[in-house]
Amino acid sequence: MGLFSALFSKPSSVELTVTSSNGFHLRPVAQFVSVAKKYPCKVTASFEGMTVNAKDINTLLSLSLDKGCRFTLSCQGKQSKEALEALSDSFTSLMKNDKKIKAAKKEQVLYEGETIEGDIIYGSIAIAPAYHYKEMQLHKESKLTFEQAVHKSMEELEALFASAQERHNSDIYLAQKELLASLRSKTHTLQDLETLIKKSSSRLSGTKLETKISDYADILQRVKSHLGAETEMILPKKPFILIANDLLPSQIETLSRTAVSGVILKKSSIHSHTAILLRGAGIPSLITDASLPEEGTDIILDSYSGVVVTVPHASDRHKAKKRLAEDREQKALASAKRFEAAQTKKGKQIKVFANVTDVNSASIAKEEGAEGIGLLRTEFLFKEEKPSFEIQVAAYKEIFSHFDDITVRTLDVGGDKALPYMPLPKESNPFLGIRGIRLFKSHPEIMGEQLHAIFEAGKHRTVKIMFPMVSSVEEFNDAKHFATETAKKHHIDISNILFGIMVEVPSVLFLMESFNKVVDFYSIGTNDLGQYLFAVERTHPTLKIDECSPVIFNAIDVIVKKATKPVSICGELASSKEAIPKLLDLGLETLSISAGNIAQTKEIIRHV
Ligand code: PEP
Ligand code: MG
Repeated sequence: MGLFSALFSKPSSVELTVTSSNGFHLRPVAQFVSVAKKYPCKVTASFEGMTVNAKDINTLLSLSLDKGCRFTLSCQGKQSKEALEALSDSFTSLMKNDKKIKAAKKEQVLYEGETIEGDIIYGSIAIAPAYHYKEMQLHKESKLTFEQAVHKSMEELEALFASAQERHNSDIYLAQKELLASLRSKTHTLQDLETLIKKSSSRLSGTKLETKISDYADILQRVKSHLGAETEMILPKKPFILIANDLLPSQIETLSRTAVSGVILKKSSIHSHTAILLRGAGIPSLITDASLPEEGTDIILDSYSGVVVTVPHASDRHKAKKRLAEDREQKALASAKRFEAAQTKKGKQIKVFANVTDVNSASIAKEEGAEGIGLLRTEFLFKEEKPSFEIQVAAYKEIFSHFDDITVRTLDVGGDKALPYMPLPKESNPFLGIRGIRLFKSHPEIMGEQLHAIFEAGKHRTVKIMFPMVSSVEEFNDAKHFATETAKKHHIDISNILFGIMVEVPSVLFLMESFNKVVDFYSIGTNDLGQYLFAVERTHPTLKIDECSPVIFNAIDVIVKKATKPVSICGELASSKEAIPKLLDLGLETLSISAGNIAQTKEIIRHV
């Protein structure tokens, strides 16, 4: 289609209806916009006489599309048909997958003292003095221009989005990043930004999206902090129950590192991003607009029952303490037994290993009860700049010193993992391009040096070396041959080294007989196996696979049944409460997971 006809062609349109009871709110809008931006055509949304740019999160949000609203989506110009189809599909899946946040069921507990009721954000118990929110303004020197401060904030949000992906809630940061990107295109100074945020916030006031006003405030605060105007919470050192009108989403991360026992918000909603993050951080929390006690009053926050006991009697304190003790006991029990082996009820011993990323996380893993390292993601060492051979050897040696059983994965760059100094060719599908073991061909010097460093650090002990992204036996054989040649070149005996593969590309399932002849072990990487089985990019903003799909378990079943060499699993699935019994049932005997989940996972195994 020529430029003229593309620009003046008739728009293709479709009528869409908001079906989620949460409405078309900030997070799905952000994901929708990120899909729209991939297309060169003009994309608009029309509702009740208003037509807005649907590539701009801010203007799309201004339509305040609630459940039941029917709006027209139009695409005009180049690739308009494809865009319309992709956006309709994306919208339908966003609506379908938008989980309704239901009000938590309140437990019935009778307290003798005065109580006030509220809506539960996260159910638990806190007993501590009330503390009313205070903050201070800090003025630091900053040499950044407004543009640079916005840029830095975008980078931070992008990093938060990437780092939170494995934990959930990452879409909150994507939404804030999209919001900032939209505001940035219309502002040139901090004052502009403040005015625009004020205007955008007031438009949301009184609508279902009111709770998202704190996201605008959060963005503003982030940009201001880069310009030297930081706002810091003033918090007690001893346990306290924080009472605040509302908090910013970014303050929850800070709060979770303090002595906070609980949080009571006066003006928030269980749907707000602040509430979502409070739940994620496991902080007992409640929303109530009733009048709350003065600072220093000892109160009980029982967010299981949805109450604050403002004037507790001795019996109330006793009751709450008992419940708190039971909760803690359960956690402590798991923690106390973290160094003990995990045996199923039938007496089968399961090894629980850790996935680690650096020297620090290896020692944390030891402390958390890991029995070995099932996956050392070595990308960390290579993050900022290429580490020298000596730095690599020192880091590997220190990590190896913690455990007898160690599996080191060679550099897995490409796809979602990039290195600033290792330019990879620009590819349309990086997840299907130069990645993992394919680096042996494209970057032999870096891979050779890494292998040499692992060999050097692993002298006089057993080390398992694992290649990522393997799709054919030849790839494995070539990489192993390269490793053997590297060892010869440096006169190192590598009879102590075992070589294995990550099973994360589906082709391996059909090549197991051949792989059995050459590899020493397998480790199933469900994070990538899932993406390649379903052809759904693991970082895709709207598409998600069902991590507990029978397809994944069937694939694992095939691998375990066909393998004649040891098999372990190191994908996220290995710490899913729902998946563990099934994985054990399929015959897996080694799970490798994040250090923070070890005690809990061992406890789950003991109940299978
Ligand atoms: C996996 O793909 O399951 C895996 C453990 O590796 P990563 O997440 O590092 O790609
Ligand atoms: Mg992987």
